[in-house]
Amino acid sequence: MNRTDPLTERQEYLIGGYVELSCGRCAARVRVRKSSPQQTSVQWSTRATRQCPVLTSDEGLHTPLPTCPDLHRSIQHAVRTGSLGVT
Ligand SMILES: [Zn+2]
Repeated sequence: MNRTDPLTERQEYLIGGYVELSCGRCAARVRVRKSSPQQTSVQWSTRATRQCPVLTSDEGLHTPLPTCPDLHRSIQHAVRTGSLGVT
């Protein structure tokens, strides 16, 4: 029985403090939101997960929470330059 509703990409992501960022290396575009200095939510689109070489690697496929080290750096840069603030 496979009755899971796939996560649909919806407009709501754009409101509620999400900022669009792209990975510095693979250029995958994701939506990022910081709810506190320690907490960062990243929304990966299907296209972005296919685009990122880290996520398409065996290791990436088995990680429950997709992360890319280059994207992580892009996020930190966005925080430092003020384009990603805590919301
Ligand atoms: Zn990447």
